[in-house]
Amino acid sequence: MTEFQLLKNMQPAPDAVREAIKEKPGFGVHFTDHLSHIRYTREQGWHAHTVKPYGPIVLDPAASVFHYAQEIFEGLKAYRHADGSVWTFRPQLNAARLNRSAERLALPQLTEADFLGSLSTLVSADAAWVAAPQHDLDEVSLYLRPFMIASEKFLGVRSSHEADYYVIASPAGPYFAGGVKPVSIWLSRDLKRASAGGTGFAKCGGNYAASLAAGDEATANGCQQVLFTDAAEGRYVEELGGMNLMLVTSDDKLLTPELGDSILDGVTRRSVLELAPQLGLSVEERKIELAEWCERHAAGEIVEAFACGTAAVITPIGKLVADDFTIDHGEEPGEKTMALRKTLLDIQYGRTEDTNGWLYRLA
Ligand SMILES: *Cc1c(COP(=O)(O)O)cnc(C)c1O
Repeated sequence: MTEFQLLKNMQPAPDAVREAIKEKPGFGVHFTDHLSHIRYTREQGWHAHTVKPYGPIVLDPAASVFHYAQEIFEGLKAYRHADGSVWTFRPQLNAARLNRSAERLALPQLTEADFLGSLSTLVSADAAWVAAPQHDLDEVSLYLRPFMIASEKFLGVRSSHEADYYVIASPAGPYFAGGVKPVSIWLSRDLKRASAGGTGFAKCGGNYAASLAAGDEATANGCQQVLFTDAAEGRYVEELGGMNLMLVTSDDKLLTPELGDSILDGVTRRSVLELAPQLGLSVEERKIELAEWCERHAAGEIVEAFACGTAAVITPIGKLVADDFTIDHGEEPGEKTMALRKTLLDIQYGRTEDTNGWLYRLA
């Protein structure tokens, strides 16, 4: 790995300000004192590895990212354990996914060593920003957001010859402030997120841009999230705008849509599937028809539903609301949903032995 040069922020947030932010972090609104940056050009490859003061990025108005949306990102968290050490969860999977996204969006590949170095150098510099959980259910963390943008000054339509990779970090509190509560999700019928041959499997800003209008539709219908179906027929359930979908059956099966080029390969999804057998659940990854969810819920066979992703971990789904029907899973989170949630969080926060070797020490 190339060493990252540390240019220290000479005006970091005062201790009192930082501690106040850690007390009430919200999500994605406050940022630490530093960021990681690596520059790419065709001639030099990745170079100028630095961790430097957090601040605005200066780009030419003709930079390709502004015009053709050549941008990808990642999302993971740093967790403080009881002994003070700071860890992240399966970052090698994020490094590999960043490269799959980069390939699809015609951006350059980044080595796993550079990816891991960009996280550990930043988190070491900003370690004071990683809050210590005060009790077992205290889901405080430092959210890490790596992203890569095409930065060549050129309006011609082709892949950029220049790119910049950054990591920014933001203190995060529990997603569910007053305890875990099931959310309502809106079934998007007309607006689609991703289609065969498209970019659905890549973690790119463009997919999010394409999902936001459906998100507004969800809000207008009293829902917090959107469920997308396949673009061709609207027959199969796929995923939410930023989380994967799972269903639990009365005979202890965990069902989830199989991966394809319109579904994102979530690290949380994979981890939940790998942990499920320990909790007596057998896993089925396959196409799931919307009609199957409706009918088997009515028959008492599909008993729990949840969404999963790094930011909110595991979110119970209370209702699926469509223009012409509602599936109601009730006001209380499902038992298997909560057991999976606890199992995963206990590993991430170091409260149970990491028998799978999923944790990676950052500081
Ligand atoms: C990031 C993301 C997820 C969740 O992935 P994790 O690796 O579990 O955080 C799911 N769906 C979409 C569309 C995403 O962008």
